[in-house]
Amino acid sequence: MLQRTDRKPMSHLELHDLTLAFGRHKVVEGLGFSLDQGRIGCLLGPSGCGKTTVLRAIAGFEPVVSGHIRLDGATVSDARHHRPPEQRRIGMVFQDYALFPHLTVARNIGFGLRGLPESEVRGRVTALLERIGLPDQGSKYPHELSGGQQQRVALARALAPKPALLLLDEPFSNLDVELRERLSTEVREIIKSSGTTAILVTHDQHEAFAVADEIGIMHEGRIQQWDSPYNLYHRPQNRFVADFIGQGVFLPGKVLNNRQVQMELGILDSKIPVECGVGCQDCNLGCHVDVLLRPDDIVHDDASPMRAEVVSKAFRGADILYTLRLKSGARVLSLVPSHHNHALGEPIGIRLDVDHVVAFHDETTPPPVPMPGARRSIAIIPVP
Ligand code: ATP
Repeated sequence: MLQRTDRKPMSHLELHDLTLAFGRHKVVEGLGFSLDQGRIGCLLGPSGCGKTTVLRAIAGFEPVVSGHIRLDGATVSDARHHRPPEQRRIGMVFQDYALFPHLTVARNIGFGLRGLPESEVRGRVTALLERIGLPDQGSKYPHELSGGQQQRVALARALAPKPALLLLDEPFSNLDVELRERLSTEVREIIKSSGTTAILVTHDQHEAFAVADEIGIMHEGRIQQWDSPYNLYHRPQNRFVADFIGQGVFLPGKVLNNRQVQMELGILDSKIPVECGVGCQDCNLGCHVDVLLRPDDIVHDDASPMRAEVVSKAFRGADILYTLRLKSGARVLSLVPSHHNHALGEPIGIRLDVDHVVAFHDETTPPPVPMPGARRSIAIIPVP
């Protein structure tokens, strides 16, 4: 008889409470995340935050001080056990392609398949050449290919032995911006079609958004938020994530009740009120908050009585990104369709169009004293 089980299937990759160090210098502390089979994860963060060190630890090139790394349910790294890199079945793609210059494209792709029957090698190489869109280029040498083509060959070479996990370390950083965008979409499709679980490391959020299903924002050796691209942008859990992802400004506001925040731009209605965070016991008493406003939260509207002066503008083809000065001197950003072309210094009408409020408690103003029985209200997220 089949027994029903409510247990979540085991993650394919699991990092738990990981600490990594060089000598006495801890570069990663208390880091954890998990990834299911076939998912693409990304570690995104500023230079020096520890992304590559985590990737190298997963690959088995760095020892673990404490915590553990599990792959397919088996512990591959903890403080006492260390499975060598060559026994982890991990494929890697680096920024410099690292193709063998004296081998043809086909032989580069088949390099990790030595020992398999010749017909199987030929079959896999042909299938991979097809998948990376270079079906007729197998006999060429790497220097005869463009940078983007070489990186696709490097990806095919990493996928050829059917790795348990694929690691990509800044794979697009040697390529120009336009090619990066195109290639990152292609790379995602190739990885997804192979069903391989993968982790990308980058400091470029556009790359992360284009490739990954889930992203961990890293800062000083810790993951600040592990989430979908949508939630990182629209529901950042702290100021670091809010600042790092996308563009936006913070404007001060005062919480009026469980659905409204008073701001210089008018009253902001929160459509998704959730519990207050620590440090803000009762917003009905008028918490002072900093509200995050993205460029798409401020809409150009000629009929609006709220005016703001154009300080600068960046033409982006379909849109213009305006920097606008409010009466108080505070600046906001607004993304406007590019046929609304206004001059510097011109006052234009704007209004708020915020789907849900992201606000952080203003730490310069003490939180109000809670009153017994008062209701909780808006999303005020404490800084950790
Ligand atoms: P980047 O985006 O610039 O590659 P990163 O986020 O990948 O940065 P890491 O390369 O993981 O960062 O480095 C994290 C920290 O560890 C940095 O302070 C770095 O100086 C230090 N570090 C990295 N490798 C070593 C090493 N071999 N010996 C000592 N310290 C190291």
